[in-house]
Amino acid sequence: MSKSTIAAIATPLGDGGIGIIRISGDNAIAVGDKVFKSLSGKRLADLPGYSCLFGNTVNGTELIDQTVATVFRAPKSYTGEDVVELSVHGGRLILKKLLRAVCEQGAALAEAGEFSKRAFMNGKIDLTQAESIMGLISANSDSEFKMASGALRGRVSDEIEGIKDALVNLAAHIAVFADYPDEDLPELDPENFQKILNDIIAKLEKILASYDVGRVLREGISAAIVGKPNVGKSTLMNLLSGTARSIVTDVAGTTRDVIEETVTVGEITLRLADTAGIHSTDDTVEKVGVDLAKARIESSELVLAVFDQSASLDNEDLKLLDNIKNKKAIVILNKNDIGEQIDKNVFGDMPLVLISAKTGDGYEALASAIAKITSVAQLNPDAAVLGSERQRDCAKRALDASRFALDTMKQGISIDAVGVCLDDAVAALLELTGKRVTNEVSDEVFRHFCVGK
Ligand code: GDP
Repeated sequence: MSKSTIAAIATPLGDGGIGIIRISGDNAIAVGDKVFKSLSGKRLADLPGYSCLFGNTVNGTELIDQTVATVFRAPKSYTGEDVVELSVHGGRLILKKLLRAVCEQGAALAEAGEFSKRAFMNGKIDLTQAESIMGLISANSDSEFKMASGALRGRVSDEIEGIKDALVNLAAHIAVFADYPDEDLPELDPENFQKILNDIIAKLEKILASYDVGRVLREGISAAIVGKPNVGKSTLMNLLSGTARSIVTDVAGTTRDVIEETVTVGEITLRLADTAGIHSTDDTVEKVGVDLAKARIESSELVLAVFDQSASLDNEDLKLLDNIKNKKAIVILNKNDIGEQIDKNVFGDMPLVLISAKTGDGYEALASAIAKITSVAQLNPDAAVLGSERQRDCAKRALDASRFALDTMKQGISIDAVGVCLDDAVAALLELTGKRVTNEVSDEVFRHFCVGK
């Protein structure tokens, strides 16, 4: 990577108390001194790291703004290079004028994610930490925040490093044994070997499972509210979204379209569709809605199946039950406020929630049921949770290779073959943390960052 000096606006472009231009690279301090004049007459070049001066920024004879200039000296900075941060008032024009001045003095405009990429290249952070920065900035819930901040503090890296070290140990043992078969080396204890490998496999399985749950927290889950007409689907939808968004009516079959809405229930975002009721119909327009509802059950990750508990179940309800029996589904017994007619035994061991969509009673129970069925309730956000599809892919490759090593060992095929599998697993984990990674992969990671990060 070139050691050119780069600059960018590091704060969001908008009106704000403070806006920051960040400059990083060998000439950062020299460039800073060309645009910043301190009131005391001191120069940035004379400052030690972690110190600042107050003064003005200028472009030639034009005064830009009052400024606090902070100096960080390599390697003790975010990027590991010399860094100057110029803090001015947070106005678009001020920041653009200052950025232009900085670039006219020799800094190049930073590309998206280039500061973080330099931090990675200079060994300040690994790839899991770099990826966690994006997660931390976009965190919407407490759990998301904990997962990302744990990863930024190295929790994922530490867990992966531990697994990798165990694999390296096994691989080293095998390499010695395979390379010097005639030496009088201690016998490989297959039982112990398999125990360690099983332990590694269990850890990889656990971290992979946590990714899926973490993904639900980060990206939400597609969900469908289904049920026959008039059971209260639209009312429930409105309760969840907090607005009178869907058409609520007493006339059966009037919610005909699939209406998309994103709602947050507890910590989980549901990408919801309020659908037409599933029931037999001759009405062509309505039939389109019913077909959409069935398709939506198929394509949704979670089904909220609504029943009116003030009336007994009929054939349409039973047909719906049949349609969702293989899905991840929660049975919602609505109209809790006006009595109970339903025989709950028909729902078997499906999770049941009693609510009144009209009064909001039972909302908390529904939120808990959703957290439970998506495993979010069981997630420990303080544990190591993989933060990207790229990390998941690497961990999966390490798991597959470890399982293959175990099978190969059990079948007694060849000790060399076991070694090759273990090497593959190690390589996948080194890629995960970024210790051994191609430029293409790291470029891809930082491409998703925004400029200034
Ligand atoms: P949908 O056809 O399934 O979307 O049903 P709607 O949401 O349009 O509701 C049908 C009727 O049931 C409306 O009159 C609602 O006010 C009423 N309703 C919905 N939920 C409840 C509830 O929890 N309690 C009571 N008492 N009425 C409800």
